[in-house]
Amino acid sequence: MKVFKFGGASVKDAPAIENLKNILHHYEDEQLVVVISAMGKTTNFLEKLLDAYYHAPENVPALIAELRTNHETVAEQLMGVENPFLPQSERLFTLLNEQLQRPTSDNFDYDYDRIVSFGELLSTTLISAYLNTQGVETQWLDARQLIRTDNTYREGHVDWAVTQKLVCNTINPYFQNRTHGIVLTQGFIAGTAENQTTTLGREGSDYSAAILAYTLDAECVTVWKDVPGILNADPKRFPDAVKIDRLTYHETVELAYYGASVIHPKTLKPLHNKQIPLYVKSFFHPENEGSMITKDADLKEIPSFIVKDNQLLISVSPRDFSIIGVENLSIILDVLAKYRVKINLIQNSALTFSVCTDNVPLRLKPCIEELQEEFIVKFNDGIRLVTIRHYDKDSEKEVLAMFSNEDVLIRQSNRHTIQLVLK
Ligand code: ASP
Ligand code: MG
Repeated sequence: MKVFKFGGASVKDAPAIENLKNILHHYEDEQLVVVISAMGKTTNFLEKLLDAYYHAPENVPALIAELRTNHETVAEQLMGVENPFLPQSERLFTLLNEQLQRPTSDNFDYDYDRIVSFGELLSTTLISAYLNTQGVETQWLDARQLIRTDNTYREGHVDWAVTQKLVCNTINPYFQNRTHGIVLTQGFIAGTAENQTTTLGREGSDYSAAILAYTLDAECVTVWKDVPGILNADPKRFPDAVKIDRLTYHETVELAYYGASVIHPKTLKPLHNKQIPLYVKSFFHPENEGSMITKDADLKEIPSFIVKDNQLLISVSPRDFSIIGVENLSIILDVLAKYRVKINLIQNSALTFSVCTDNVPLRLKPCIEELQEEFIVKFNDGIRLVTIRHYDKDSEKEVLAMFSNEDVLIRQSNRHTIQLVLK
């Protein structure tokens, strides 16, 4: 059994979905579990809808109408005016409307999951309907009945034992008497024991694929992308970016951790633990080789560049001139953990603890307020964090030249990696 994952870009419009069908045709003798994200930028659109639900309810109906038209237009392009997606669309939009007619709860993250999850429900329902009209028979499954998490909304923690049972009890019977076939389900979304919808974090569909592969002991996972494989830099910024053919799980998780948009960082652990190979391939050129990630690989250590913009550098100092020892550190880290602040870099001195993080005001504001109860907190916004993995003198020079009108606020390095905080 193989697990495939198609991200938003690979299902963004009718031609992309036709292309997906052609790829699946190629594998018609296989047992496939296909994990699909929301179409194109739908998740961002649903975040806008959620924002309207909270702050401008008068805009909600127009946004829903736009979302519906977007999906129904693609369905029409693929299957004609009268098509099997329409009644499903009617059903899903009735449910979405019901969700939006409920008052907001006191837990934003809970509201986020119950609404933003519709992106994947819509895309998979549409694509499954299309594939079935094309003779590519698929079984649609609701990922909320497969992947069980706790109720940490927007970042559900997987209950592996229950998930294992749910997945095996549902997917194995389907393949019992079939040498080939396709099970199609949503990435990103999951469910709690109380049947509430959760999500696994933005870009979490890769992780969904890995969870399913792990529980099914799949032969491999393939992530289909709009790039030829894992690149050593973002080609939009570094025109000389090259594909890395072979990587280890370790190397890949390091790159993902520093923010390379290769693969969701949580994806690697389940695959590593069962030694399931991960392929990253181009959906434009499915015949090309892509990147392969396994336990051991002949690593060519070329520099990889990861640039994260819109960072906030927070500096925390005790009010009474006491030094930052383990006690202060533990208080500060507890507060950061409580608000799930993502630490991208830490630097410590006698009197100041500094942390560089993604600038997400919603998450940071209450965190900073709590820190301010005990500490002097200063911040610097508009920060850029550049990481070079397998750096050398030339690659560091290249980055400094690229951002020559910015100051280096922090430079941190070890044998493999250098990080520069720029402003
Ligand atoms: N649709 C979700 C997102 O855009 C999950 C994913 O694409 O992996 O974050
Ligand atoms: Mg995506």
